[in-house]
Amino acid sequence: MKGVLVEKDDSGIRAELRELDEQQLPEGNVTIRVHWSSFNYKDVLAITGKMPVIRSFPMVPGIDLAGVVESSDDERYQVGQEVLVTGYGIGEAHWGGYAELARVPGDWLVPLPEGLTLRQSMAIGTAGFTAMLCVMALERGGVTPEQGPVLVTGAGGGVGSVAIGLLSKLGYEVAAVSGRPEAEDYLKELGAREVLPRSDFSEPGKPLGKERWAGAVDVVGSHTLANICASTQYDGVVTACGLAGGMEFPATVAPFILRGVTLVGIDSVQCKQPRRSEAWQRLVEDLDLAKLETMTNEIQLDDVIKTAKNWGQSDHRGRVVVSVQ
Ligand code: NDP
Repeated sequence: MKGVLVEKDDSGIRAELRELDEQQLPEGNVTIRVHWSSFNYKDVLAITGKMPVIRSFPMVPGIDLAGVVESSDDERYQVGQEVLVTGYGIGEAHWGGYAELARVPGDWLVPLPEGLTLRQSMAIGTAGFTAMLCVMALERGGVTPEQGPVLVTGAGGGVGSVAIGLLSKLGYEVAAVSGRPEAEDYLKELGAREVLPRSDFSEPGKPLGKERWAGAVDVVGSHTLANICASTQYDGVVTACGLAGGMEFPATVAPFILRGVTLVGIDSVQCKQPRRSEAWQRLVEDLDLAKLETMTNEIQLDDVIKTAKNWGQSDHRGRVVVSVQ
């Protein structure tokens, strides 16, 4: 089977597309012929070694995958069934989606939701699934479209683009934050009402500012997250899922103790199965698949390493699906 393998030696991390031995597949009771994977920020970090995402070497990266069951010792899954996996450490601690075959425990699988193709499920992928988890957290926190605008940062990226699509379809007024002025038309087509420059949020700000946002989806972290909390309305909800701008959180408690703002952490990797299933069902219902297609680019397995190395410099927008077969 063909796959991308990341190895580590004294000279550092090296990724290579090569022929792999099926015997090397990790433990698991379901083997899947991978048709599609996708490209996520974490895959860039894994392949380039910019952050220590990979916890055991050699590793097949790819933090999500969709395909067809090839063999199964799990009675819930039959040969020929279409399934997907996101998270649980695939591509980090357990071989992931950038190879023609994958083997995982059946507990990690989600049956392909009715209404989606395998390709669409990976066009959504980990990023889109995470965007849905953010939207569901806003709803649980009581944020409704009537309360005011919802801010989405890193808007041109995967999580941001899907979040805009979802929120606008659900009737929210979306304000998008992007570092790329040239992405304005794209973000408005996805459903953003206004597009704000990244620099409005990325510098150190005051503990409290004007109350602007009913809710927020933040993929950036650092000063951006602190400034969003400081400008969120009374009782508003901020969801934090990413660190594209930094891991630190240089904030004060003022928004929390003076305005009752809620900060919700979002993790897609170990997300429990009931919420996982609910999120996939909601994606079928609430994501405009035509919009999903406009935000999706396709690459081949052979392009994965080059794509990872160019990620920061490229003008990539939205989501990238990886054709594996
Ligand atoms: P992408 O690379 O597709 O998008 C990230 C976007 O963030 C970019 O397109 C850019 O948008 C913006 N950005 C990039 N660098 C910076 C910076 N230095 N400062 C501010 N903004 C920046 O990544 P994803 O959408 O896949 O992931 C986004 C984040 O969410 C990542 O940190 C990722 O690790 C995290 N994540 C977390 C998950 C979880 O389970 N918690 C799951 C999935 C992702 P623009 O050019 O429009 O400004």
